[in-house]
Amino acid sequence: MKAIILLGAPGAGKGTLAEGVRNATSFIHVSTGDMLRAAIKAGTQTGLEAKAFMDKGELVPDNVILRIVSERLAQGAPEDQYMFDGFPRTLEQARQLDETLAQHDAKVNQVFLLEVPTPVIVSRLSGRRICKSCGAVYHVTNIPPKVADVCDQCGGPLYQRPDDSEATVLNRLDVYQRQTASLIDFYERKGVLVRINAGSDPQSATAELLSKLN
Ligand code: ADP
Ligand code: ZN
Repeated sequence: MKAIILLGAPGAGKGTLAEGVRNATSFIHVSTGDMLRAAIKAGTQTGLEAKAFMDKGELVPDNVILRIVSERLAQGAPEDQYMFDGFPRTLEQARQLDETLAQHDAKVNQVFLLEVPTPVIVSRLSGRRICKSCGAVYHVTNIPPKVADVCDQCGGPLYQRPDDSEATVLNRLDVYQRQTASLIDFYERKGVLVRINAGSDPQSATAELLSKLN
């Protein structure tokens, strides 16, 4: 088992980059945010527990996150290569991940820190729109759909994620600084941190990551 992590503020482009890496490698993309949104959609107990935290831009409690991740890894095979996106987000999650990986004789191989200036992040998130039917991602000015609020690929309606409103975006950035940024130091000390310039276009960030991937 092999594990890499995409680390960065909300809006740093973890999801977009993950898609590029997945297309070029055999990494399995594990996004805790996507798993939680799927749980909300399915109306499971986990979804009910998570929704209130997510709508406010707060972190979902560690025990909920660790449960869904370990359930996911338990379904895996020894040769699996995982790319975590949006996880870990607290020191406790990072420590538990180390323990879980150790049980599989594995460790965190590389952590890619996506560096993006804060004003770029705020504009990316508050302008983000998502297709309700197929999940395609747009941006009101950077990646506009051909017809306003309609998906180019499937004709579905576009919506704004409830946690992408400007006030919630600012709270998510604050939560990142308070609870997640300490992971930079944690992984730097272990010698596995790799910095990526993610402030311009997603193609060059993806290319940079792939060139630094061991
Ligand atoms: P973003 O990185 O843009 O904030 P995500 O989809 O990764 O988007 O996360 C959305 C929300 O899901 C977070 O604000 C948080 O409430 C919850 N969440 C996702 N991953 C975690 C995690 N590892 N720990 C705690 N909460 C999480
Ligand atoms: Zn669509």
